[in-house]
Amino acid sequence: MKYYSIFQKYCHGATSVAIFGEIICQKLKEPFEQSVYKKTARDLTDEMRTNCESLNGNRSNLEKHILKALAEEEDFDKYMNYIDNPRDHFKSFIRDEVSRYITDKFSENIKLLQQKIMKAAHESTEHVQVNRGDAGLWLKSFTQQLSDELIFSEKDLSGVKHDDVDDFNLLEDVLRNKLPAIISDISSRFNTETFPVKLDCKDRPDELLTDHFCQCCWVQCPFCGAICTNTIVNHDGDHSVPYHRSIGLNGIYTSNLSTHICTSAVASSNLYFYPNDPDDKVLWRDYRRAGGVYADWSITPDLSELPYWKWFVCRFQKDLEKYYKKFEGYVEIPDEWRKYSKQEAIESVNKYL
Ligand SMILES: [Zn+2]
Ligand SMILES: [Zn+2]
Repeated sequence: MKYYSIFQKYCHGATSVAIFGEIICQKLKEPFEQSVYKKTARDLTDEMRTNCESLNGNRSNLEKHILKALAEEEDFDKYMNYIDNPRDHFKSFIRDEVSRYITDKFSENIKLLQQKIMKAAHESTEHVQVNRGDAGLWLKSFTQQLSDELIFSEKDLSGVKHDDVDDFNLLEDVLRNKLPAIISDISSRFNTETFPVKLDCKDRPDELLTDHFCQCCWVQCPFCGAICTNTIVNHDGDHSVPYHRSIGLNGIYTSNLSTHICTSAVASSNLYFYPNDPDDKVLWRDYRRAGGVYADWSITPDLSELPYWKWFVCRFQKDLEKYYKKFEGYVEIPDEWRKYSKQEAIESVNKYL
């Protein structure tokens, strides 16, 4: 409003051109800033999709990294969040990866810049010594070397007395000793939460990545909770996943069934489950006969099982019993399941997924 009234008043000749230009600039500021933030976020997203191990593949690759991180952390609550709310867990994992990437990048750039400053100081000292110059020459050389990196010139120090500066090795030492405090001040003010604050939610790197990875099928196996790996939402045909978990991890079954994995249960000739009530028993190998959610899954009989979930069940046996209250069957965990170490569990994910 302010600008328009000024504009009307002076709308003639050179003055009006200047004012009009000024208004355009003021009006440009907001979209300009938005656009730069948006573009930076997109570049950063692309960069992460190339350089970040967990984010440079498809969702199955991402899930592999999630499983490894869960095993490393051994945090039961996180595991249950992953099992009960997989999409939520994926989202928060992506958010953590993005903030770690940005933080790493930030400290990497700080380190590089610090090295460049010290290198410029050192070379300026040599330059002055060779040419028998004074502090003025040192400063000129120093600011010139940094001109590509920093908006910093001799003018920034005009009025600062430096005629009696003649020990340039000492000057270099002072810089070397003082820089770390400045850097730690900069670092402490940096915060990955405030970094994307200028962005619309939909343009934030973690949101772009979540969109990219999460527009897939999220249907979970009715027996174990494993997530269908199809990359299309509402896809045709059956849901499927190459590796199932141990049955009951989604809390549906009790007793001895819980020490089987879906793929081996459907390979068995005499195991039953009870989809609706205790009288309605269905052979595992005919699981589709149970209808409903069971009929939509393709579970291929397979006896090669991931040690990962066996390790998980043994490691968190007590927590699982408490979580589901009804899992007395877990006391019958086969000895074979107990032989896997955490390392073997993690390696099995690496090898197969
Ligand atoms: Zn399953
Ligand atoms: Zn599916």
